[in-house]
Amino acid sequence: MTAASVLDFTRLRDLPAAERDSALAAVSTTLEGKSPQEIATWAANAFGADVIVAASMQDVILPHLLARVIPDVEVLFLETGYHFAETLLTRDLAARALPITVVNALPRQSVAEQDAEYGEKLHDRDPNLCCFLRKVEPLARSLEGRAAWVTGVRRAEGPTRANAPILSWDEAHDLVKINPLVAWSDEDVEAYQVEHGLPRNPLVAQGYPSIGCAPCTRKVAPGEDPRAGRWSGTDKTECGIH
Ligand code: SF4
Repeated sequence: MTAASVLDFTRLRDLPAAERDSALAAVSTTLEGKSPQEIATWAANAFGADVIVAASMQDVILPHLLARVIPDVEVLFLETGYHFAETLLTRDLAARALPITVVNALPRQSVAEQDAEYGEKLHDRDPNLCCFLRKVEPLARSLEGRAAWVTGVRRAEGPTRANAPILSWDEAHDLVKINPLVAWSDEDVEAYQVEHGLPRNPLVAQGYPSIGCAPCTRKVAPGEDPRAGRWSGTDKTECGIH
């Protein structure tokens, strides 16, 4: 009997933290070497529809993967108000092409309201606060009370993600975090994209391998760290949601 088959995922919040974390780590180990499709199937069996998939709309691989095992799966998009038009187009294409339900997580304030309270271009002066207001807080609200969320974190994305597990307890949001693509290379991503003919963000082909909000994303040169274009010129490397 595997660890996955003896763990009651509906009761994880009731377990002492150490017991919960080690149980999840054991299940995560059993999932190492499995394909993203197998991990997605495992997630559907463990959590049913009580799963939400985070998508930046750089590509729609994760929504596609989960929609095959959870029809109409909810797909969470952090609608910061600062996205490229191409990113919003990709979101809308995905909503039409796939059996998913897009959930737009909105900040409490519009960009204009934020400008009025904090001044214009907060992203240039205090990107951590801007990310908190427009990503971190809306995400936390959207995840409240859910059993699990699925993210596209990959170990190949850079040093900050090199040790990401497949499965873990997300302390900040009080739920299970699942990373089905964690072992995939850039080539694996591309192959899945082509095999299934999925909509993709046109900016990727224009030199943007990692796409966030427009004011905080630049093109990268060939051979440069793919995430070097995010918050370029600052020491910020993550928006705070992972
Ligand atoms: Fe603000 Fe930039 Fe963070 Fe987007 S990525 S929320 S614009 S600081």
